[in-house]
Amino acid sequence: MLIKEKSQKLFSEAQNYIPGGVNSPVRAFKAVGGNPLFIDHAKGAYMYDVDGNAYIDMINSWGPMIFGHADEQVLKAVQEAIPSSLSFGAPGAAEVEIAELITDLVPSIEKVRMVNSGTEATMSAIRLARGYTGREKMIKFEGCYHGHGDSFLIAAGSGAITMGEPNSPGVTVGTAKDTLTAPFNDLEAIRTLVNANKDQIAAIILEPVAGNMGCVLPQEGYLEGLRQICDEEGMVLIVDEVMTGFRLAAGGAQEVFNVKADITTLGKIIGGGMPVGAYGGKKEIMDFVSPQGPVYQAGTLSGNPISMAAGLAQLKRIKNDKDLYQRLTEKTQKIADGIAAHLKALNLNYYTSQIGSMYTLFFTENEVHNFEDAKSCDLEKFGKFFNAMLEEGVYLPPSQFETWFISDALTDKEISKIIDAAGKALKAIH
Ligand code: PMP
Repeated sequence: MLIKEKSQKLFSEAQNYIPGGVNSPVRAFKAVGGNPLFIDHAKGAYMYDVDGNAYIDMINSWGPMIFGHADEQVLKAVQEAIPSSLSFGAPGAAEVEIAELITDLVPSIEKVRMVNSGTEATMSAIRLARGYTGREKMIKFEGCYHGHGDSFLIAAGSGAITMGEPNSPGVTVGTAKDTLTAPFNDLEAIRTLVNANKDQIAAIILEPVAGNMGCVLPQEGYLEGLRQICDEEGMVLIVDEVMTGFRLAAGGAQEVFNVKADITTLGKIIGGGMPVGAYGGKKEIMDFVSPQGPVYQAGTLSGNPISMAAGLAQLKRIKNDKDLYQRLTEKTQKIADGIAAHLKALNLNYYTSQIGSMYTLFFTENEVHNFEDAKSCDLEKFGKFFNAMLEEGVYLPPSQFETWFISDALTDKEISKIIDAAGKALKAIH
């Protein structure tokens, strides 16, 4: 049994001063029937808790640490930037450099605005789409998560569903009525919504590969179909690549599936672990953003020099590492194959889903193509699996409705350990 004494003590204390003892809900381990581990430090493929336990990290700060923790090049860039002050509140050269790099790597982005989180990016993107089209409604998909902006907390995935609160109190009826929802991977449902709301819908926003109901892939022709409907109806296609951007390819899911967004939202990897988000797209649309245009959006710490230094260092590594995505896919494939072999040996028909370095083992025998499908999972079994993996030294996302993020820091040694641990854990809980 893991010794968790110091974590338990910190969690007891934390609950006196922080709501639920954590600064973001899923961290609380509520869905898996345990208490959170408090992390002391992390390096490469491993996280170390305050009691001295080591874990192979399969979350990687929910995506940003694609090279693993405390990457030397990213740390060096941050250390070099620190003496020049932590914030200017005025433009700096690094902001121009990162904007050039992002527009170079993501073909659909001609201009980009930096913000401080994925939530800020999606909130700004939807406001921009509304300002640009002069329409008020939008379509989002059940089980997709786009941060905690009011308009997105309708049928939301990730922590919202893990906590059983996909529609949050505090979101006004007025706001909610402008968010139309549809099941993922169903073009007919979109056509029906569009016909019932002619010339009123500003945008469709989606995760091109959903990661917040577990990893759910778009079916053949789905993304192209959405692109076509947006073109026909004068709607803005917002592709939320906060998770998939620079994870599936340097050009994100748009590169993998060959579709082009009107507006793309980014976060996670582009900050190298610092609080960064961005939204960008067609010049014609981005020029609606203040001070060039009338749609207001601002930020005291936006384009912060330390965040930009970390993001630039990570994006340059990605740009120069031609084999990165191939390597990540191979590592993830090994893990997926290893787990598949254990499932087979145990006569279990659970559905698994993988693309690049994103993977989910769904505790259901149904195929998972949308949120309804994902909800058929046996959550109690998932909780047991999560805790058994933790005992084996593997730190998974503490919810069935999340994706594993594989980092390049994993070597064959860790990959074997993960597969072994999964075999033992699956056996123990069945
Ligand atoms: N969009 C997507 C697709 C996300 O996965 C997330 C966070 N997991 C967000 C937006 C919100 O980003 P943040 O937590 O940085 O606000």
